[in-house]
Amino acid sequence: MKLKQVEQLTEDKCRELLKAGEQAKKYTYPTPEQGYSVALLTDQGHVYTGASYNSDTYTLTMHSEAVALAMAANHGETKIVAITGPNCHICKQLIYESSLRSGLDTLIIIEEQNLIKQIPISGLMPYPWPEQV
Ligand SMILES: [Zn+2]
Repeated sequence: MKLKQVEQLTEDKCRELLKAGEQAKKYTYPTPEQGYSVALLTDQGHVYTGASYNSDTYTLTMHSEAVALAMAANHGETKIVAITGPNCHICKQLIYESSLRSGLDTLIIIEEQNLIKQIPISGLMPYPWPEQV
């Protein structure tokens, strides 16, 4: 399946998402303000945030992206237009798989030196697994 290109967001919308993601950092567990947090935008225009939930085993730690994707899915929303980054490689894989299911090439929103970048997840997966067919 060929992923559908998502229209670029306005800079204001990107900054709104980045701010929502940053504000969710206070929910990182078990220690507020220590961990990671993100925000995502669905095709319905809703924003969901996620904050990392750490485990002493590390293996059981839930990354903020997984939390946000699950939060959206638990509200019946699985078409993700954009999510804030940068993201670790595990989360890129998770976002990519979400894109394969929805058909939308989710945008990764990154602010770098006060510049907004909107990068389709497919652009961050040069040799993806599973491959697109
Ligand atoms: Zn991650």
